[in-house]
Amino acid sequence: MDNSMNIDWGNLPFGYHKTDYNVRCYYRNGSWGELEITSSESINIHMAATALHYGQEAFEGLKAYRGKDGKVRLFRWEENAKRMAKSAEGIMMAKVPEKLFKEAIFKAIELNAKFIPPYGTGATLYLRPLLFGSGPQVGVKPADEYMFMVFVTPVGPYFKEGFKPVPIEVVRDYDRAAPLGTGNIKVGGNYAASMRPANRAHKDGFASVLFLDALEKKYIDEAGPANFFGIKDGRYITPQSSSILPSITNMSLEKIAEDIGLKVERRSVPIEELATFEEAGACGTAAIISPIGKVYDRVKDVTYEYGDIAGPYSTKLYITLRAIQEGEIEDKHGWTTIVEGL
Ligand SMILES: *Cc1c(COP(=O)(O)O)cnc(C)c1O
Repeated sequence: MDNSMNIDWGNLPFGYHKTDYNVRCYYRNGSWGELEITSSESINIHMAATALHYGQEAFEGLKAYRGKDGKVRLFRWEENAKRMAKSAEGIMMAKVPEKLFKEAIFKAIELNAKFIPPYGTGATLYLRPLLFGSGPQVGVKPADEYMFMVFVTPVGPYFKEGFKPVPIEVVRDYDRAAPLGTGNIKVGGNYAASMRPANRAHKDGFASVLFLDALEKKYIDEAGPANFFGIKDGRYITPQSSSILPSITNMSLEKIAEDIGLKVERRSVPIEELATFEEAGACGTAAIISPIGKVYDRVKDVTYEYGDIAGPYSTKLYITLRAIQEGEIEDKHGWTTIVEGL
C-alpha cells in the first residue's frame, strides 16, 4: 500500500518522516560526480571522515509549498545555493555548484511528489541539503572527498499552537558563535554550541533563547536558530552582527516591510531596546515568524512583554510572505520558482 495514504497531514510534527528517495553526489579527485538516486536512509562513510571529527559539515533548509492553484513552489532556492557555497568556503569544503544544487533539490522533490502536503493543511515539504567532509584525515585539515545529499520530509507547522506569541529567555552564560567565528555560515557546529542553553530554556518553559553578542554582551544577536526583529514607530529593526546567520526569511521580510510602508533598520540593537519595541519576533524558514510574547532576562530578572496576540505588523508580514510562498498574491519580487509537472 502507498504509505503516503496514511499521513495525517494536519497533525504532522516538525520532524523526520520517511519518504521514498534521496539524492547524493560525491566529490572525488577534484570534481563532482553524477547525482545518484537511492531509497536508503543510511550513509556509509569512513570512520575518519572529517565531518565526524572536525565538524566539516554544512546544511540548508528550504520548503516546497503546494498552492491553492495546485502548483508546487520553491522560495528563493538560489539564495540557499549561494549560502551553502559560502558555508563550504568558510570551513574549507568543496563547493556545490548552483547547477548541481538545483538538480538535486528538484530531483528530490519530483521523486517524492506524493509526500508534498496538500494545500490548506499547514504542512509543507521540507528539503534538507547536506554537505560534509567524507574523506579520511587524522590531522586537522580539510578532507579530500565530500558528499552532498538532499533528503526531504513532510513537516507540520513549526509551532503546534500556530501563529501565537511565545516566551523566550536571554542567555548570558553561553554564546552561540564568536564575532570572527562561524556564526554567519550554516554549519552544524554552531548548533552544537547552542544546545545546552536551548535545552535549559525548554525545560524552564521557554520556546527559545535570545543570544547576545559574544564580545560585549550588550547587543541582541540571534533568537536561537532564527533571526530577531523588533518593530516600533513604523520601523522594522533587525540586528547587524558578524555572528548572525543571514536569514533568507529575514531578508524577504525586510523587503515586505518596506512594501507595507515600514522603514527598515539593520544595525546593532542594544538589549535595553527590548523595552521600547511594540512587537518582536523570530524569523526563519521553519515558522516564517514566531511572534515573541515576552523576553525574560534571568540574570537581571527583567521581563519585556509584547502581549498574548501577535501584533498587527508581524501579522501582516507573516500573512504576506506566506501568501507569496503559496502563490496567492502576486510575487512581485520574483522570489518563487514553480516546480513543473507535479
Ligand atoms: C537557518 C538559520 C536561520 C534562518 O534562515 P532562513 O534562511 O530564513 O531559513 C536563522 N538563524 C540560524 C542560526 C540558522 O541556522
